[in-house]
Amino acid sequence: MSGGGSPTRSPIRRLDPATVERIAAGEVVERPASVVKELVENSLDAGATVVTVTLEDGGLDRIEVADNGFGIPPQELALAVERHATSKLRPEGPVDRITSLGFRGEALAAIGTVSRLRIVSRTPEREEATGLSVVGGMVGRRSTRGRAPGTTVEVADLFFNTPARRKFLKSPAAEQVEAVATVERQYLAHPEATFRVRSDARDLALYPGTSSLRDAAARVLGPSLLRESFEVTGRLPGGRVRGILGRPETAAPSSRGLHLVVNGRPITSRPLAQAVRAAYIDYLPRTRYPVGVLWLELDPERVDVNVHPTKQEVRFHRERELADDLRRRVREALLAHPSISEAPASTPARLPSPSAASRPLARASGPPPPLAAARQRTLTPAPEAAPAPVRPPGATSSLRLLGCIGALYWVAEDAEGMVLIDQHAASERVVYEDLRRQGELGCQTLMSPVPLTLSGAERAALEAHAEAIRRSGFRVEPFGPETYRVHAVPVYRGRQAQTEALRELLDELAAGGRPTLPDSLEERTAASLACHAAIRAGDVVGVEEFARVLEELARLPESSYACPHGRPILIRLPRGRLDRWFLRTGT
Ligand code: ADP
Ligand code: MG
Repeated sequence: MSGGGSPTRSPIRRLDPATVERIAAGEVVERPASVVKELVENSLDAGATVVTVTLEDGGLDRIEVADNGFGIPPQELALAVERHATSKLRPEGPVDRITSLGFRGEALAAIGTVSRLRIVSRTPEREEATGLSVVGGMVGRRSTRGRAPGTTVEVADLFFNTPARRKFLKSPAAEQVEAVATVERQYLAHPEATFRVRSDARDLALYPGTSSLRDAAARVLGPSLLRESFEVTGRLPGGRVRGILGRPETAAPSSRGLHLVVNGRPITSRPLAQAVRAAYIDYLPRTRYPVGVLWLELDPERVDVNVHPTKQEVRFHRERELADDLRRRVREALLAHPSISEAPASTPARLPSPSAASRPLARASGPPPPLAAARQRTLTPAPEAAPAPVRPPGATSSLRLLGCIGALYWVAEDAEGMVLIDQHAASERVVYEDLRRQGELGCQTLMSPVPLTLSGAERAALEAHAEAIRRSGFRVEPFGPETYRVHAVPVYRGRQAQTEALRELLDELAAGGRPTLPDSLEERTAASLACHAAIRAGDVVGVEEFARVLEELARLPESSYACPHGRPILIRLPRGRLDRWFLRTGT
């Protein structure tokens, strides 16, 4: 990664004006977290294996980063805090093949102009450390003191001389959160180093150096994620990817839980993040984002880090190809690990991974939600009297449907205990798979066409995806400038989709018109239609009809344990858990 192993030091030199011009200029110091980022990067570039970050008042009062790296010789200290002087780039460039984290020679100078900065450093061959202070850009005199080899940079009173910028800072608590998140990103990028965060004289967090990417990921994302994760490995154009991603049910409401590391640098990249998300396409609701860490190692010539002053955003050579391949690697990995390691060995082989769905229950203490729900609602007997045994082909045990709660949740039992099934989710998954197999849906002509007013984007989608719409079973004709008439709607096993489903489908297609992929467009179409052609919540369904749905579900690959929008289909409550609730543990 940066430097690769134990980096060797080069002297600090001033960059040529021509090189300076080719460097992305801009502000690198925005808040305590950006100071932490720059200083920690310097420590890592110096080959540090232990980095201690101290924050006082969330970093507003004082930030200190101490390392055991190779240090700076006394005669170069003044250059270290000078603008455009660096040991990481030859004075004449080039800036297109960068392996260190820093290279612009600007961070210390920039921080020194807006704070009281003090740098103390000792190279291994010297007896003592040399210190230098910079106050609001004014460089002080050198002094000596004792210190183990390495460097300490202290930044006090950030923005003391630029009150306007100090005003933009958040509360100390919020700034501290950002600063710790920054350390976590650096740790994920360099898990071989140990990071310690101290705050107001106490230890706040410890990230022990490890050679295991899994351990590092667990430290940052929480050990529970690992139990619900899958590994990604594979080749990419110009390199490879390794990583650990959470299963769909761990997905978060924002995209912040996905960490991307490229050549030892934590980065943000919309195209890559979107590619990862696209790999989850039929597993995630629209409001959820994958969680995890992906480490990409790419030929440095394919990565342009000289795009943004903070180097957090990078550009890739042949970005589209890279994103496509990344999506494929993640997709393959997701489909190859359909169930969670918690799954009991006796789980019926072909039923959609029930233990995955039951996981949220395991977390909850006290009576789990389904039980609470069952207490409040009455258990309505299924329309047909006799419980119908369902024996999914290939299953080791049969599922007996007992009844339906609130025209939505079916209660069933099998040899292992109780099973609750969401009738909409189950049916939706079956329709979806059917749709993807057949490629089109039947259509039902309406007695009287239904008018539909469409927005500009929806009209554009209608025109751009005429063929997809036709295969979906909708028949639509223009009827005025913004109005259309729906003549026919999709029909599936006698169930007819509503005309409003067309609008949703158009929204999906309009969203899919962005640079996503043709197959994901198909998948979106299918998911959107399946949702509308499926048995709905509140539909009163006969036990026989639902038994047929379950049979078809059991025939699907085990990976389809969630509905196309990512909600669980089935929750399993093993007999043992029921026994514990009723305090029958001994029996
Ligand atoms: P850059 O990292 O882009 O070179 P900086 O302003 O961050 O610019 O640092 C300037 C120089 O000071 C670096 O090139 C490096 O030689 C030296 N330096 C800064 N921090 C450290 C450190 N913690 N250990 C060793 N050298 C450092
Ligand atoms: Mg730097």
